[in-house]
Amino acid sequence: MRLNVLENYPLADLTTFKIGGAARFYVKVEGVGSVYEAVEFAKRQGVPFYCIGGGSNLLVSDRGYAGLIIHMANTETEVATDGDIVYKICGAGVGWDSFVSECINDGLFGVECLSGIPGTVGGAPVQNIGAYGQSVESLIYEVIAVDTSDGGIVRFNNAECKFSYRKSLFNSEAFGRYIIISVKFALKRVGKPSAKYHDLENYFPKDAAITLQDVRTAVLKIRENKGMLQMDGYRGYKCAGSFYKNPVISADHFDKIAGALNTSASNRNWHWPEGSANEKVSAAYLIDNCFGKGFRKERVGLSPNHTLAIVNYDDATFTEVMDFAKLIEDTIYERYGITLEREVQILQ
Ligand SMILES: Cc1cc2nc3c(=O)[nH]c(=O)nc-3n(C[C@H](O)[C@H](O)[C@H](O)COP(=O)(O)OP(=O)(O)OC[C@H]3O[C@@H](n4cnc5c(N)ncnc54)[C@H](O)[C@@H]3O)c2cc1C
Repeated sequence: MRLNVLENYPLADLTTFKIGGAARFYVKVEGVGSVYEAVEFAKRQGVPFYCIGGGSNLLVSDRGYAGLIIHMANTETEVATDGDIVYKICGAGVGWDSFVSECINDGLFGVECLSGIPGTVGGAPVQNIGAYGQSVESLIYEVIAVDTSDGGIVRFNNAECKFSYRKSLFNSEAFGRYIIISVKFALKRVGKPSAKYHDLENYFPKDAAITLQDVRTAVLKIRENKGMLQMDGYRGYKCAGSFYKNPVISADHFDKIAGALNTSASNRNWHWPEGSANEKVSAAYLIDNCFGKGFRKERVGLSPNHTLAIVNYDDATFTEVMDFAKLIEDTIYERYGITLEREVQILQ
């Protein structure tokens, strides 16, 4: 298949942040046979390559990218059934929320709380997306990818993906090595819709009989109220979702910082035990304590509805966002000795 490689291709509109310059080369890959061809093109040109999906976890430099952007757009889907399990093998370019919506229409359980997350099926395992008590790791049977070192097709079973909180093989030790071409999901035909997360528990009357579609409607409504939906007909912000992960610190460290926080001002959940000796702390709570809700510096600020989202309010630049992020990170480190880890991927 002939590749249609374009030059000096603008990237901002391929991201939800709407920031960034052009790529030296860009190719949209609709058939999996072209993936390694694209990689070989970059190798021949002597430039790096970077794979993108929906651009919803990505912040691109104003200078753009001096290599080849490989935009995964393959959407082939296959379905197989084994008893109560339905396997869906979806192309990496399938929109994540279209996949969720289709599963709900098909009466399949396990994915309903992940409604409204932007991006693609191929992007979902990379940071092991999660929301409202569900995460994609619990649905993934297999990830199928091209090894960019030799063009071979590799199949990773669930354990081999090394999933943990917002982490996988693909955004850690093997970052950039594999291009995911499809994901095989195992979904249940029998079950109960999940509404265990506190936002959802508060949404539904106690003991209400709820359907998968009810959970989807609730999640979309809750997301909209937080400005965390980027779908037609809903109000959202230009951002990449949560900029930071919730940090995990030792119990000793936690005891030291708890005294420094104004915990009486809010009864909101802001820390959870993580294993026997650690505590996971709400990054949003720490940031709110230092800056207040909706803190803003000119064209960049925290979303007033969801502190962890850094928002491009008015054609902000990459540098403005990075300076703002540095202010947040330096302040949290000085106050609490905590290094915030970014969830968003930076491309420069
Ligand atoms: C409004 C909003 C709300 C969000 N809410 C949530 C949420 O609730 N929970 C959550 O976990 N995330 C959330 N996100 C983050 C984001 O949607 C997810 O991380 C999503 O899975 C990214 O997918 P993508 O296709 O857009 O990936 P991109 O942003 O295009 O890429 C992200 C990373 O994945 C890699 N990648 C993408 N596709 C492939 C592929 N086929 N093969 C190999 N690597 C690939 C890229 O190289 C890059 O490193 C939100 C984002 C926004 C803007």
